[in-house]
Amino acid sequence: MPSVERLTVGRWRTNCWKIAVPDVAILVDPGADEESINQWLDEGGFSPDHILLTHGHHDHLGAAAGLQSRFGSPVWLHPSDLGLARSANVFLRHFDRASKPISIPEVFLAVGLETEAFAAAGVHSMHTPGHSPGSVSYVLPELGIVLTGDALFAQQSGRTDLPGGDESLMTESLRSLLQNPDIPGEWQVLPGHGRTASVGDARRALMHNRKEINGGT
Ligand SMILES: [Zn+2]
Repeated sequence: MPSVERLTVGRWRTNCWKIAVPDVAILVDPGADEESINQWLDEGGFSPDHILLTHGHHDHLGAAAGLQSRFGSPVWLHPSDLGLARSANVFLRHFDRASKPISIPEVFLAVGLETEAFAAAGVHSMHTPGHSPGSVSYVLPELGIVLTGDALFAQQSGRTDLPGGDESLMTESLRSLLQNPDIPGEWQVLPGHGRTASVGDARRALMHNRKEINGGT
């Protein structure tokens, strides 16, 4: 049986997702707190075949290197966020004032975003920039879910004021997520922070404060 579970980790309460589809186990955004994530994985006997990052911000990848070395799992990231990922400790010092630096994972670049590995797992990836240049949403049609990272939350879009953020790209990305015939309204949005929502509810919430995603001005 496919399953989706969440653990919220770290100061920014990042959603880390473990997703089991037949024959493939996927971990998304292991942001911090490697110890808790390992315990959570062990409780379910879960060994990730792939670690997917929605983007390169430090609060989404802090535990990735440790998990990669434990499980030998490839870590996937859009190439446009490689610079951000490599700067994770700069962000960590600026935003978290943490003393313990992050180990940067060896990243496999999801160039073109349709790799054999993703296809085998039934995962489709969409480039949804705006929060960062390489923000990606992962779509799993068989489960009816979209992992949107910090592009789209339950009731709002992600911030675009950080380095690499772009408001007009964000608008395009939100359109491609919320006005997409391949992403029905009853599917679930699994965001990088906060609660989940149906795609339809997220669309209605967004249309209140971002009328441009509905084609208006
Ligand atoms: Zn972010």
